[in-house]
Amino acid sequence: MAKMIKKDKVRELLDKLANEKFDIFAPIGEDGITLYRKLGAETPLLNFQNSSKPPKEIFFPQTEKMFDITVENHRLVGATEPPMASNPILLFGARPCDMRAMKVLDALFTWDYTDPYYVNKRERSTVISFACTLPDMPRESCFCTSVGGATDSREGADMLWTDIGSEFVVESLTDKGGKILELGGNLFTEATPDMQAKAKQVSQEATEAISRKLDTEGVKEALEATFDNAYWDEFSARCLGCGICTLLCPTCHCFDINDLVVEGKASRERTWDSCQFTYYTIHASNHNPRPVKKHRQRNRIYHKFLYSEKNLGLLGCVGCGRCIYGCPVNIDIIEVVEGAKEVLK
Ligand code: SF4
Ligand code: SF4
Repeated sequence: MAKMIKKDKVRELLDKLANEKFDIFAPIGEDGITLYRKLGAETPLLNFQNSSKPPKEIFFPQTEKMFDITVENHRLVGATEPPMASNPILLFGARPCDMRAMKVLDALFTWDYTDPYYVNKRERSTVISFACTLPDMPRESCFCTSVGGATDSREGADMLWTDIGSEFVVESLTDKGGKILELGGNLFTEATPDMQAKAKQVSQEATEAISRKLDTEGVKEALEATFDNAYWDEFSARCLGCGICTLLCPTCHCFDINDLVVEGKASRERTWDSCQFTYYTIHASNHNPRPVKKHRQRNRIYHKFLYSEKNLGLLGCVGCGRCIYGCPVNIDIIEVVEGAKEVLK
């Protein structure tokens, strides 16, 4: 049976969960954009278009210390991992496309090696997804429904909340979701049949509002057939190599590792990297297998629509649209992929 919670009771719920030691991450308006931040006294946004940066950084921070290094007389004598945190994490207000993207990261970070930093945080997490009510219409860039998603996708979520005006209709999907219902107590009440019907209508209207479409039929065949085609020179010529398309992408996961020495203390950190950067693939021999932008742009598209599915069984694009509206020279992944199909015609 679906539940509901009034919007003016949400803060009370979050305060209750904070008292239960949850570290809560929620969408916050900051400098005119929406970001997920650890919640303090701020009021989280309840009605927002998707965030500018995806919530993946809660689990895979842009910069993360891996361990401290002990150096004596210029020699490395030991390494100490920082203690792993143990508080439960609540990701509040994730959008369905971003939680589908987390499935890609979950598969990647447990693929050939289990990444303890990522897995520790994911295992502690409970996710409340918000069904999408405002597809990215002003920027007309998202296309989740073309790549297997939905405005009310439940994938990767423990609860799905749907905004029907002054309340959310609340669906618990897992035991972790059930725990939130239990902790919320009488803040949650039964949703009436009218409320549940309204929630379905809201999601239907959001789906109909998505104007961008990508016809994925024949994409793999087109990519496999055009690897050496001059097409990849044409569209990548205007790419600036800034990497924004990858840094904003909820499924991108590449990182670089650096050792730092600050005030005599050494540590190893990892930091997001981008396959769009010139030196991303450079070898110790100085050979660079992707020396020009054509190679790097082609790799991004092939990774999303070919390699990810081959390696992880999941498409590497969830249609969030961030790479489209973030690109300073308007390179549009839908147009690029559709263009590759046109080459074969
Ligand atoms: S490739 Fe672009 S549209 Fe697809 S998930 Fe990444 S940022 Fe979103
Ligand atoms: S955001 Fe645009 S210009 Fe920047 S690397 Fe990506 S495709 Fe190139």
